[in-house]
Amino acid sequence: MLTGKTAVITGGSRGLGESIAYRLASMGADIAIVYRSNPSLAESVCAACHKSYLVKAKAYCCDVSDFGAVKETINAIKNDFGTVHILVNNAGITHDGLAARMKEEDFDSVIAVNLKGAFNMIRHCTGLFLRNKEGCIINISSVTGLIGNAGQCNYAASKAGLIGLTKSIARELAPRGIRCNAIAPGFIATEMTAHQTENPLLERIPLGRMGEADDVADAVAYLATAGYVTGEVLKVDGGIAM
Ligand code: NDP
Repeated sequence: MLTGKTAVITGGSRGLGESIAYRLASMGADIAIVYRSNPSLAESVCAACHKSYLVKAKAYCCDVSDFGAVKETINAIKNDFGTVHILVNNAGITHDGLAARMKEEDFDSVIAVNLKGAFNMIRHCTGLFLRNKEGCIINISSVTGLIGNAGQCNYAASKAGLIGLTKSIARELAPRGIRCNAIAPGFIATEMTAHQTENPLLERIPLGRMGEADDVADAVAYLATAGYVTGEVLKVDGGIAM
């Protein structure tokens, strides 16, 4: 279904990004993984994509918050794969704390990676999308960006910002055949949430369980192929924010 397409997945070395990489590879897409700090994890995801689905897969070390580094990385991906068709902005971090005590650098770094990182990737992929007269951008936001969360004002602001970014990019690029959507996951079992088993929001999940990374990968697979859907925010949250 995605044979002949190239998908770039930021933060594809583990967690949600790893499952998204496997899902898009299973649909036939070649995979470019962007990671920041753990080459062996990223390489092993690429090896598994190639072994299981016979697609081309390569990992690139890049801090998505660095505008110049993202430009170089997209150029490298273009050289290796020819172009990009699908961009999944999944890389994200948390530095939680109450606003009254939050350090300035903890606010800035979360905005820089989660929000500006997505902008940087979109900024440098858009030329390729325009040339192809097609493109699909999927931004991994969060239910926290929709309803807020005490102790996560920086993270919630970054994820709410991603929704504004998504809708603006969707409006700008729809006339050129390029779609942009967001996914707002709830609580998904990954390293990011491993320390949050006491989070009070857990009791408010109508479906009564944390999500799996594959639940989010299902939504990515849908949006990657939903040709008439743009500017949408798809919640994958067990009903938290209904
Ligand atoms: P993980 O912490 O498990 O993985 C984060 C990934 O992002 C890693 O691959 C990491 O690479 C990469 N990364 C972090 N910072 C950068 C950076 N500056 N540049 C490039 N890559 C970077 O997170 P999850 O899989 O849990 O989350 C993935 C996304 O989903 C995030 O955006 C998160 O906010 C969002 N989300 C997650 C939810 C959850 O419950 N898990 C809920 C809602 C949203 P490396 O290891 O090499 O540093």
